[in-house]
Amino acid sequence: MPDLTHFLAELGDVPSISDPLQVRRKSRDMTAVYSPVMRRELKDKFADVIVLPRHKEDVLRIAAAAARCRMPLIMRGAGTANFGQGIPLKGGAVVDMTALDTILWTRDSTIRAQAGARLRAIDEATRPTGWELRMHPSTRKVATLGGFIGGGHAGIGSCTYGILRDRGNILGLEVVSVEEQPRVVELRGDEVNLVHHAYGANGIITEAEMPLAPAWPWCETIVTFPDFMESVRFAQVLATSDGIVKKLISLQGWPIPSLIRQLKPYCPDGHSLALCMIAESFAEPFRALVAASGGEVASWAPEGQGPYEAPIYEFAWGHTRLQVNKEDPSIIGAIGLYHSDRLVDAIARSAERFRALGGMHFEVKRFDGKLGFQGSPFFPYTDDEQLAEVMRGMAEDGAMVANNHTFRVKEGGMKSVEEADIAFKRRMDRYDLMNPGKMSFEPEKDVDEERGSGAQLPSAGWTYRAAEPAARQPAERQAS
Ligand SMILES: Cc1cc2nc3c(=O)[nH]c(=O)nc-3n(C[C@H](O)[C@H](O)[C@H](O)COP(=O)(O)OP(=O)(O)OC[C@H]3O[C@@H](n4cnc5c(N)ncnc54)[C@H](O)[C@@H]3O)c2cc1C
Repeated sequence: MPDLTHFLAELGDVPSISDPLQVRRKSRDMTAVYSPVMRRELKDKFADVIVLPRHKEDVLRIAAAAARCRMPLIMRGAGTANFGQGIPLKGGAVVDMTALDTILWTRDSTIRAQAGARLRAIDEATRPTGWELRMHPSTRKVATLGGFIGGGHAGIGSCTYGILRDRGNILGLEVVSVEEQPRVVELRGDEVNLVHHAYGANGIITEAEMPLAPAWPWCETIVTFPDFMESVRFAQVLATSDGIVKKLISLQGWPIPSLIRQLKPYCPDGHSLALCMIAESFAEPFRALVAASGGEVASWAPEGQGPYEAPIYEFAWGHTRLQVNKEDPSIIGAIGLYHSDRLVDAIARSAERFRALGGMHFEVKRFDGKLGFQGSPFFPYTDDEQLAEVMRGMAEDGAMVANNHTFRVKEGGMKSVEEADIAFKRRMDRYDLMNPGKMSFEPEKDVDEERGSGAQLPSAGWTYRAAEPAARQPAERQAS
């Protein structure tokens, strides 16, 4: 049991909160809402204190104090993660990074900002100069840059630019180690993926350097299709129509639209929806494609001005579940990635297999150089065996299946945890204090203790292009 009094004394004047109610609240992210499996297992998992660094010097102080007192650290941005990322499994201190929100510089098409900067604030700062982030999660309003990199993976923009892990989508990261004399390490090139999607388990991200994309005047649109597979074929053609500039392609098979109050009026019974963001200049070729695909444009509006009370991306990606759960909290989903050359056939198999279970939901994205449709049926959860059967079915149909019902990075399957990752974890977190239980460097030690039932679900995880050169050892500079 770490000595909290000693830890607080070591922190000096770094602000902290010990009020039990606030600590319990910040020991939760969106995990319990999204996973009935993890909801069962997080009941008694709480941190002991919240610490609130004001600047990088405070972060270094927290890292040193944690090492001296063996205090676990759970990094936190906006706390919107939904795959167990932010749940403290072994107590400790929640480190709220939101005060480190300075945009450090922008140069042409690149930005460098502190980890606590909100994604919306970054876009608001860069859009007047004609640039914006290449991608953002549907939680853009509140999500932080550090949280997106530490816990997220893709989003609105990924149908054009790919996922965060794709080379070039994170240019540089500054990361602090947790040890008595914390080091500040700059990761560049492939090294950034050591820390991306590692749940804050192998270093404190203090700064990130991101590429920007042209900020087109975006329009958002709802397109209806009488048949779900027509919407899939349309989405595939749109995604590969390189001349049409786009930011979002999201599909909802019936009855999903009937479960979202704001979208229901736009969807005739039994139809499916495609929600898209298209650059304004491409309205004509887009409408031509819709007509040729058997769809009908039910709504077309400038970004954020549609008649459905929120920007359209707040009905896509992780938000589709959030909206559906307002009507029926029992509905869950899984994460299948259909990305083979025959992905339409694979999706058709799944749509047929799950016809009686629920509508299919997909986001279209580029993934590791290929086109991918990520999603699953939305269905009312009954038990883990039913969920396992859905995951097995998607895999049989041809999807790569990740696991959004486990606390552990490796079993989650969206980040491949290789030897280089473990070696880096050892170097940055020698006492295994960072989000312990999520990505141990002694995997054997806590496998049974910490895996939980979610890790037993059948998931082979995602694999990436082979022949990745091993990450070289990151350059280091000592903290002053
Ligand atoms: C409704 C909804 C929609 C979502 N849509 C998407 C989506 O479209 N795409 C997507 O990828 N995700 C999505 N998510 C998941 C999540 O919102 C995003 O990943 C978001 O970017 C997380 O940002 P945050 O600031 O809330 O991070 P947090 O939840 O605070 O943290 C996320 C993880 O990163 C770690 N972390 C935070 N800050 C740091 C730091 N400075 N250094 C090291 N580690 C750190 C945390 O410990 C945690 O493990 C969604 C979630 C919800 C609830």
